[in-house]
Amino acid sequence: MEPRIVSRFSCGAASAVATKLVLAEYGATRETAVINAFIEQEHPDNRRFLTDCEQWFGVPVTVLRDTKYNASTVEVFRRRMYMAGRTGAPCTKFLKRELMDAWGKPDDVWVLGYTAEEGKRLDAFLDANGSRRVLTPLIDRGLGKADCLAMVERAGIELPAMYRLGYQNANCIGCVKGGEGYWNKIRRDFPSQFEELATVQELIGPSAYLFRDRKTGERYSLRDLPPGKGRYQDEPDIECGVMCEMAERELAAA
Ligand code: SF4
Repeated sequence: MEPRIVSRFSCGAASAVATKLVLAEYGATRETAVINAFIEQEHPDNRRFLTDCEQWFGVPVTVLRDTKYNASTVEVFRRRMYMAGRTGAPCTKFLKRELMDAWGKPDDVWVLGYTAEEGKRLDAFLDANGSRRVLTPLIDRGLGKADCLAMVERAGIELPAMYRLGYQNANCIGCVKGGEGYWNKIRRDFPSQFEELATVQELIGPSAYLFRDRKTGERYSLRDLPPGKGRYQDEPDIECGVMCEMAERELAAA
């Protein structure tokens, strides 16, 4: 029997289009599944988007929810005492990757939602996961991020609120992988979430600081981020990293 095809749906536009394309191609002939990891800090509108996408996909999405940390990034940071490390962010590891890995089967074929602009991320993934069989429907068709946004809208689905607020993804509100411009936008748009993350960062101490002063090399906290610093529109897009972190972890161990 052919192995199952699994899409790890993130509530992002690229992930939605990749899932839709694969279901359209294989849904009638192969066992398929769509899974998602719920995270407390995501915008609540991500759940509306997931429900709309279920209608579009024509299949239900299996939602996994961590219970050890109440599916909360803040809880992970507080209890693990770090926010980002050399091998990635603890929130991705404990709230998504481990949960999804435990649910999966070793021979599952994974649907990767890398867009045409993300060939290097795919290469890194393949270098580190040579035995994992994957489908890359967006890259195969030359579909970029803008194409995916347009395809979702053309399907009559409203994009997640975070995109409509000017973010490049539907990640958590206050993603530890964001740059200075991103965090200044979060401080303006979501002051209470910013405050909660700044407080937990202070509690952990300097090892949790996310930024470095380019001149002195010193690390500094969210609270010390100068307003107006960073240009979000010029910062690279951030991905939660379930895929690329796996690759980076393997590379670090090699
Ligand atoms: S989106 Fe960012 S903050 Fe949320 S789980 Fe992923 S890496 Fe962590």
